[in-house]
Amino acid sequence: MSMPLLKVEGLVKQFPIHGGLLGREVARVHAVDGVSFELAPGETLGIVGESGCGKSTLGRSILRLLEPTAGEVSFEGRSVTRASPAELRALTRDMQIIFQDPFASLNPRMSVRDIVGEALVIHKLAGNAQQREARVVELLETVGLSADQMRRFPHEFSGGQRQRIGIARALAVSPKLVVCDEAVSALDVSIQAQVINLLEDLREQFGLAYLFIAHDLSVVEHISHRVAVMYLGRIVEIAPAKALYTEPRHPYTEALLSAVPIPDPTVKRRRIPLQGDLPSPIHPPTGCHFHTRCPLAQTAQCREQRPELKQVADGHWVACHLRS
Ligand code: SF4
Repeated sequence: MSMPLLKVEGLVKQFPIHGGLLGREVARVHAVDGVSFELAPGETLGIVGESGCGKSTLGRSILRLLEPTAGEVSFEGRSVTRASPAELRALTRDMQIIFQDPFASLNPRMSVRDIVGEALVIHKLAGNAQQREARVVELLETVGLSADQMRRFPHEFSGGQRQRIGIARALAVSPKLVVCDEAVSALDVSIQAQVINLLEDLREQFGLAYLFIAHDLSVVEHISHRVAVMYLGRIVEIAPAKALYTEPRHPYTEALLSAVPIPDPTVKRRRIPLQGDLPSPIHPPTGCHFHTRCPLAQTAQCREQRPELKQVADGHWVACHLRS
């Protein structure tokens, strides 16, 4: 890969838990536990895993909406983690986020014109009110809305339309990277497909790169060039999308994929049930975090030693002592 757009190295995010009379730190939630990857310009990396695996925390720590505990993030060679407030403001022009619940992320008292135009004002991207309004109309039309909807308020739109408003707001500053944090998870399946198609068109039109975070493997399959699977704060497998779906190597990915329905009823897939619940990220299992639920042999090495990501095929990396 030439110069990556985004480089994440050993990213860690822990949340302290305070307790007792003195409010001392009594434990830590290990939400993101040493994540590294690179993203090329115009690339879509899907990030999947069960609820609580740290994928949303990862996206927010990359953008410094949450302060990382350790590790390094750089964007086009510029450090995000060590950026001053002024440098970070400049970086946010290039790195935007779309949230899962567009209703919660859109100010109910602001019209669509003001919601989409706000970023233009903050970043001084539109000269006068007339130019700003023209740009808002252009953005709304880009995402499939119309100029006459500009004076309406978020509650007057459907879920899919509200997500389009969120996308228009993100696009207002002409970003190079958009973190889509469960951006379609709250939508009906048919609306999900429309929004995914829109995001795909916008990627081609503007050369955007996406970090596409979802809990459902089937959602990220078609939009992603590569997919990373997370388990308890760590990436356990990362591969080109086709390889991951046809030749998964990590037992956790195999189990997740075995639960995805296949549209062709003649094709049978063996279901691999996951044992037990996701362990607490406050006290994650030692060694391989997955060893308490792994259907493969759980060796002493599995219980004691963290498996590092190792390349098993071109661009295909797996963190498993028995599969590398
Ligand atoms: Fe299972 Fe061991 Fe591989 Fe972890 S390292 S996934 S416990 S076989």
